[in-house]
This record gives sequence, C-alpha cells and structure tokens, in this order.
Amino acid sequence: MRAFTEQYQLHQEGERKYLTLPALSCYPELQHLFTTRHGGVSSGCTASWNFGAWSMDSEANIRRNYEILAETLDTVPEQLVRTDQTHTTNIRAVTEEDRGKGITRPKDYSDVDGLVTNVKGIALVTGHADCNAVFFYDPVKQVIGLAHSGWRGTLGGIAAGMVRKMAECYGCASGDLITGLGPALCQDCFEVDADVAQRFFDKSTDYQQFAYMRGMRYYVDLKGIIRHDLLSAGVPEAQFHDMGLCTKCHTDMFFSHRGHHGKRGIMAAAMMLV
Ligand SMILES: [Zn+2]
Repeated sequence: MRAFTEQYQLHQEGERKYLTLPALSCYPELQHLFTTRHGGVSSGCTASWNFGAWSMDSEANIRRNYEILAETLDTVPEQLVRTDQTHTTNIRAVTEEDRGKGITRPKDYSDVDGLVTNVKGIALVTGHADCNAVFFYDPVKQVIGLAHSGWRGTLGGIAAGMVRKMAECYGCASGDLITGLGPALCQDCFEVDADVAQRFFDKSTDYQQFAYMRGMRYYVDLKGIIRHDLLSAGVPEAQFHDMGLCTKCHTDMFFSHRGHHGKRGIMAAAMMLV
C-alpha cells in the first residue's frame, strides 16, 4: 500500500496507522478516519488495535484502544458514540445526550447500523472487519453520517437510507453530500452462494451488472452497489469517493473476517464535527 493516493492517505504515528479520504480531509471543520490493525494494545488474533471481538480480547485492552482512537481524533472517549450493529438499516440521529454511549457508558438503543448528527464535538464510531464503512458529510448544513453496510445492509439499502435520514432530520440536499467508502471486501473476495446473489437480483435487475459467476459461485461488487444506490439517491458522481482498498487482499494491514477465518479483531471508522 502506498502512503498517499488520490483515493486515500495512510497516516503513520509510531506504530499507529490509520487512513483518511482526501475528499473529506480537505474540510478543516471535520475529523474522520478508518483504523488499521496497527496501533493498539491487543495481542494474539486481535493484535493490536481492536474495537470489539469481546470473546477474544480483554475489556481493558478494548477500553485502551478506544482511548487511543479518541486521542487520534483529538478528543476523549466520553465524546464517542457507538453503533449497535446487527446488519439492519436502522439509523439513529445522535444528540448531546448520547455522548459516550457504547464506549464509556451503556447504550440505551439496539439494532442501529447508522449514525447521523449535527452536534459538534461528538464522534460517531462504527466497527468493521470486511463490511463497508460509508462516510457522509454535508458541508452546507454541517451534518455528518456514518454507516456500517455489510451485504445485508447493502441489500437493505442503508446508504440510500442515510441520504433520506439526513434530509428528514436536518434538511440536507443529496446534491450537497460528500460520500466515501473505507476498506472492505473487493468483488473478487466477496464470493457467495447463488441464493445470496439472487436476493440482490430480485431487488433490482440493475444489480446484475455488479455480479459475475465462476463455477457455481457468484462474486458480488458491494461497493459498486453502494455507489449505484448513492448516485440514484442524488449524490453527484464527483462526490462519491472510495479508498479502493480490500480488507481481505491486505490482511497484514486490516482485520478481515474472511481473510482471518473469523479469528480477528474489529477496526473502527470515526467521524466528528470539530
Ligand atoms: Zn480483495
């Protein structure tokens, strides 16, 4: 991986490595990042910057890893808010009262895969280990959003749901949104049975262009589908960005559920209005 391309920038501070999208880092009022495996305190299969996989790591390690994430964002863990990811298309509008939920205090919500807010100083956090992180920023209304979109969330249309939610809650126009994808499975690495592919084709014949077949297996381009859905929802083509990185193709850099056969940690995507 090169340190800087048009699609992503790789930051390295000591052991700590994380990525940003140049299309978002040009806004000084915005902080965002996608972590890698490197820079935390966990060991074994969750080494080292792990934000979940509770059964394979200690609570103390995970807490420390969140502290390092907060430091990287120039804030404190009490200002972070975490999703409760269960592959839904549910989105929560985060308010002042949500500060620290899922990080330093318990969540009082469940089944939330997307977060949006216009509150400054609150960092939205999602967890990933092959599934897409979808970043949203409206520089006009000053609203941010972050979604976890695995194949179920992508099939359910969470990315387009985020566009609707931002319009509903904050009056955001889809034409103003800057969007981007973090590292996630590439098409060649998302191999599925015919029944999963068929569910996409049943939803839209448009999706057939995002799949190919080899033997009895299908390969589905989830990033292509998310891009298609965002553009259909009114996001201008020039305002869609993709880091262009696959977690399974780079298991030295990323936790990959498929690449590490389930024995892996979880990385974080985070976003905050300063
Ligand atoms: Zn790949």
